[in-house]
Amino acid sequence: MFSLNKGEGPRLLITGGNHGNELEGPLVARRIIEWLPKAQTCGNVIVLPVLNPLALQAWSRNTPLDGLNLNRVFPGRADGSVTERIADAVSRVLLPMADTIFDLHSFGPTWKCPPAATTHPIADPDLMANTVRMAEAFKLPLTLLWQHNDTAGMFDIVVQDQGKIFVCAEFGGGSVGADNLAIYEAGVRNALIALGLLGGKAEYPTFREQKSGQTLETDPSDEVKSPATGIFEPRCSVLDEVKQGDVIGVLHPLESLTAESVAIRAPSTSIVIGIASAAHVEINKAVAVVARPVKK
Ligand SMILES: [Zn+2]
Repeated sequence: MFSLNKGEGPRLLITGGNHGNELEGPLVARRIIEWLPKAQTCGNVIVLPVLNPLALQAWSRNTPLDGLNLNRVFPGRADGSVTERIADAVSRVLLPMADTIFDLHSFGPTWKCPPAATTHPIADPDLMANTVRMAEAFKLPLTLLWQHNDTAGMFDIVVQDQGKIFVCAEFGGGSVGADNLAIYEAGVRNALIALGLLGGKAEYPTFREQKSGQTLETDPSDEVKSPATGIFEPRCSVLDEVKQGDVIGVLHPLESLTAESVAIRAPSTSIVIGIASAAHVEINKAVAVVARPVKK
């Protein structure tokens, strides 16, 4: 763990490796530790590149010892299993030392998604507005308000319940490339500048020839599910705009050689923000996620 105190100013905690099969976060966190001591002008920054070393060693989303997903057991338990004890230590020891938290994820190895700073809908409108502003300060191609039904025990919730700002960075998926790492690192640097911890000028990193960002929202109805178990053939890329009914992929069923392939269509006129990149998919598993501009 790295901690640098340069007096009065924002108090930031950066974490990576919450999920052990998302490797961009730990790598970007290590890079930040290299240049931050010279660049930081004020405030206190704590960087913990790997929240869950056991999961990282196993290249696994969940902790092998107890099978638990660290990002669903917060605030944890001091007398619980190893994953619950990690969450407890973070909640009790690290959280009181920070007012803003960046948790660096990467959507897992079976998805493609654009570099994104994400949050969930938050009941407190002021905290919601401040969180979205912080997420947009990453200047990544996508800022995403993600409404889903599986938020119990997430790190985000514990932080937001304390009135603090939490931004989850995502970057899919399984291939850890130099370009992607550079964009991810630039996004975090932009956010540090916005917080006032660094000097310098924030800039949009280039992704798929785009040099700007957009703020979108997605809810459970935007998940596109596979109609059968089979091989998924993507027909679009992330950040593509699709019209309702456009073919976004084709499913080639596995159960019968003669079964017809099925076109999978966009549920609405929207923007593709996630697409399965592991070709084998199971019935009813999501193969794409779309999103729409935030309703004002
Ligand atoms: Zn994750």
